[in-house]
Amino acid sequence: MVALSGRTAAADESRPSPTAAPARPGGFAPSPPLAPIQARADRIVAINVCSRPFRAQGPRIEAERIGRKTVVHNYGHGGSGWSLSWGSAALAVRLAQATRETRIAVIGCGAIGLTTALVAQRAGLRVRIYAKERPPEVRSFNATGVWSPDSRICTADHSTPDFERRWEDMARLSFRTYQTLLGLADSPIEWRDGYILSDTPFDQPARHGDDREPAYPDLERRLLGDMRWPIQTLEPGQHPFPVPYARRYTQMTFNITAYSRLLLDDFLRLGGEIETRAFESPRQFADLREKTLVNATGYGARALLGDETIVPVRGQTARLIPQAEVNYGLVYRNHNLNVVPRRDGILVQAQADGDFGNADTTVDRGASEAAVARLAALFSAK
Ligand SMILES: Cc1cc2nc3c(=O)[nH]c(=O)nc-3n(C[C@H](O)[C@H](O)[C@H](O)COP(=O)(O)OP(=O)(O)OC[C@H]3O[C@@H](n4cnc5c(N)ncnc54)[C@H](O)[C@@H]3O)c2cc1C
Repeated sequence: MVALSGRTAAADESRPSPTAAPARPGGFAPSPPLAPIQARADRIVAINVCSRPFRAQGPRIEAERIGRKTVVHNYGHGGSGWSLSWGSAALAVRLAQATRETRIAVIGCGAIGLTTALVAQRAGLRVRIYAKERPPEVRSFNATGVWSPDSRICTADHSTPDFERRWEDMARLSFRTYQTLLGLADSPIEWRDGYILSDTPFDQPARHGDDREPAYPDLERRLLGDMRWPIQTLEPGQHPFPVPYARRYTQMTFNITAYSRLLLDDFLRLGGEIETRAFESPRQFADLREKTLVNATGYGARALLGDETIVPVRGQTARLIPQAEVNYGLVYRNHNLNVVPRRDGILVQAQADGDFGNADTTVDRGASEAAVARLAALFSAK
C-alpha cells in the first residue's frame, strides 16, 4: 500500500511515500513528453507470485551453534531484502569472521545469499554456496526492484532505538554500495523519475488499509537530510495523466535480471562455487565440509528451522513487454498500482488486501489483468 493511512504508510515497495515526504520545489527539469505505456493484457509476458519473509522483530542476523557448526543467520528481510542486502551482508560476514575460519558456506542464493557471499569474498574468505535454487528460480528474482529499505522490515512495537540504529547502518552501507553499481553495461542499477498520481489531495488517506497488516514504524525519517531525494508537486497541465493531483519523484531501480546475473558472475569470477542442494533439517549442516555457515534461506528458513516468526506476505507482479522509450515509473495511490520501468519489462504490481499472512503462491491472472486495465485507463482518457 502506498501511504494508505499513517498506520501502513511505507509498508510496500512503492516508493516514495507521498504523504510522509512533503513536496519540495526544484530538483527537476521540466517534465519531458512521456511515451505512453502499452498496457494490454496480451503484452503480459510473465506473472510471478512470491512471499516476502517478514518478521515482526526484523531480520535475524545472529550466530548460533548447531552441532559442531557455527551458523550465522541472515534472513527475514520482509519487503526490503534487495535494499538492505549489502548492509545486512556486512553484519553477517563480521559474525562469520569472528570464527576465524577462512572457508565458509553460504546457504541460499537469493539477494541475501549472493551479497553475503560477495562481501565475504571481498574480505578474503573462500565461499561455497549451497542452495536449492539459484536465479532466476529464487524468490528474490520476483521482487519489484526498487529502493525500499523500510518496507515491512519490522513492526512499530519492535522498532527500538537499537534496531533503528542498526537498520540505518544497513541502509546507508547498502545505499553507498548501490551507487558504485551505476553506469555499468546493462544498467543493473539506475535512477528513474516517476509520478505519484492521486484522486484525492495528498494530505488525505488514499483508501482504507488492510486490517491484517500490523503498524509499521516510520524509519524513513532517519534517512532524511543527506538521503532524501526531490519530490515535486505538479500543477494540472504539467503532466499528461487524467487525475487531479500529481507529484514527481526520483527513485533507485534494480533491473533484477541484469543485476542477479552480475552478482552471480562476480561471485564465480572471484573463485566462488555453487552446489545445488536442498536441506530438510539443520542436522544436515553436519554433512558440510565448512565449519562456519551463513543461513540465507529467506522464507525457506520457516520450514528449515521451524521458525514461525517468519510471516509470508504475498506479492504478485506482472511484466509487460519492455518498452525502452518508457523511462518513468507510476504510483497510483488510490488504486494500489505501482509501475516500475525496468529494462527486463514494465513491471506492474497491484497489492491486494489479504496478502499479509498469505502463503498462497498461486498466480491470480485476473488480478494482474485488472491492474493492467487500470493502468491502460490512465492513457486512454481523453
Ligand atoms: C512481490 C515482492 C516485491 C518485492 N519488492 C522488493 C523491492 O522492490 N525492493 C526490495 O528491497 N525488496 C523487495 N522485496 C523483498 C525481497 O524480494 C526479499 O526480502 C528478498 O527476496 C529476500 O531474499 P533472500 O535471499 O533472503 O531469499 P530468497 O530469494 O528466497 O533466497 C533464498 C535462497 O535460499 C534457498 N533455500 C531456501 N530454503 C532452502 C533449503 N531448505 N535448502 C537449500 N536451500 C534453500 C533458496 O533456494 C534460495 O536460493 C519484494 C518481495 C516481494 C514478494
